[in-house]
Amino acid sequence: MHKTVRVRFAPSPTGALHIGGVRTALYNYLFAKQHGGTIILRIEDTDTVRFVPGAEEYINSSLEWLGITLDEGVKQGGEYGPYRQSDRKDIYAKYATQLVEAGLAYYAFDASAQLDALRSQAEAAGNVFKYDASTRMSLDNSLTQPESVVQAHLASGDYVVRIKLNADEIVSFTDMIREEVSFNTNDMDDKVLFKGSTQMPTYHLANVVDDYLMKISHVIRGEEWLPSTPLHVLLYRYLGWEDARPTFAHLPLILRPTGGGKLSKRDGAKFNMPVFPMDFVNPNNPEDVAQGFREWGFEPDAVLNFLALLGWNPGTNQEIFSLDEMVQLFSFDRVSKSGARFDFDKAKWFNQQYIMQSSNEMLADAMQPYVEAAGYEVSKAYLQKVAGMMKERVGFITEFTTNGYYLFTEPDYEAMQANEGKDFNKKVLKKWDTARKAQFESLLVNMATLTTFEAAPIKTCVEAFIAETGLGFGDVLPVLRLGLSGTMRGPDVFEMIELLGKDVLNNRMKQFFAFCDNALSAN
Ligand code: GLU
Repeated sequence: MHKTVRVRFAPSPTGALHIGGVRTALYNYLFAKQHGGTIILRIEDTDTVRFVPGAEEYINSSLEWLGITLDEGVKQGGEYGPYRQSDRKDIYAKYATQLVEAGLAYYAFDASAQLDALRSQAEAAGNVFKYDASTRMSLDNSLTQPESVVQAHLASGDYVVRIKLNADEIVSFTDMIREEVSFNTNDMDDKVLFKGSTQMPTYHLANVVDDYLMKISHVIRGEEWLPSTPLHVLLYRYLGWEDARPTFAHLPLILRPTGGGKLSKRDGAKFNMPVFPMDFVNPNNPEDVAQGFREWGFEPDAVLNFLALLGWNPGTNQEIFSLDEMVQLFSFDRVSKSGARFDFDKAKWFNQQYIMQSSNEMLADAMQPYVEAAGYEVSKAYLQKVAGMMKERVGFITEFTTNGYYLFTEPDYEAMQANEGKDFNKKVLKKWDTARKAQFESLLVNMATLTTFEAAPIKTCVEAFIAETGLGFGDVLPVLRLGLSGTMRGPDVFEMIELLGKDVLNNRMKQFFAFCDNALSAN
């Protein structure tokens, strides 16, 4: 039977959305769009202790920036709302009660100090304490206490509801990535489903109830939730919803750049790379700023392309995919079970590819805010030319104005000498004297007579100068290049001369000649 595809991305607003969460959102999106389905954003904020203000807004803005558009959610609305669990608070209690009444759950009253003591005791004996079929009959709960005690606890709110698992039962389900998965209830425990003190469900109950009520067809989430899935499978059964149980897909972990272990926030700081979509300032500590891909200068499409391939192998050599192509080609059959290493150099490579493929118009627009922030005033047409000349030489939009600053303002010859000292000495200074300077001055005079100041005639003029003086290209071009840009790695010299124009050329070269004279006398 063909199911109507409804998937959800269900983050908890406990801080910045990790890049692994973004990949989960992306895979949900690709799968939904491929099947003409619906993608929902559900905010899972039942854990009030871990709630971080601003985190929900951050999730929405990040998805918006990336272009992962949602069909239903807190902002979008929809027929199955509310989409924030704290706004659904009143929904869950009745399901917890239903389970207790059916004998599939029970009330427990154990003080946390009591449970901690049992845990420590077990640990000292080399065991692990579990609240389960083997221990529950010796603990403080509605299975062991008289009705009057139970009622007193229920009246005061001093209780939790725990699921009642059978001992030694095999729970199996099919995962779209992992195929058949089985767990034994002996390895599980009687998880808390609901807390009387706050009248709030825990993640497990809220998650299953909402997936059911929101008619979720496929649960696509990170591998860290795989151990919770047998519990969820049992909840579907216990609540009588087995027929409506969604299909599961557990995505592989994103591993640290060095392999070994899950990529964490600390790796971002350690390897100086973003592991979040956008910068996030910890509201409790303004010093704690998580670095974002957006602020690094990444293009959203490049980030999506990079993330899609962290775990999904399209099966061909193609690496650059538009979002539409990914929607067409994505398949869980080609998502790997094993973790995918987070390779930041690869992310940069994708960004570079995107910049190279972008139109000059689009790049000029993207560059504009950085140009303004740096205080440069140039026309859109000028920026488009900068884009055309520089797009194969930058990895980020920000680099047009940083690496290419000399296209907007004077080059820094001191910095040039520090960074390019070897080339400057060998290709310019060693050959510099008054006669050489006079030759270059005559070149500038020749260039000033050009009526069409464009790259081709400028080149012809320089070639004529070379023929006339008997100098080589290697004598002439480095002088022009370093004088104009202060770097050996800039764009084509003749195009650069055309863009900057006669006046800038003359001014810069004069300053450069003076700098060479000085450098020579200092030697
Ligand atoms: N709220 C869970 C999280 O933060 C959702 C897990 C799931 O998708 O079921 O990841």
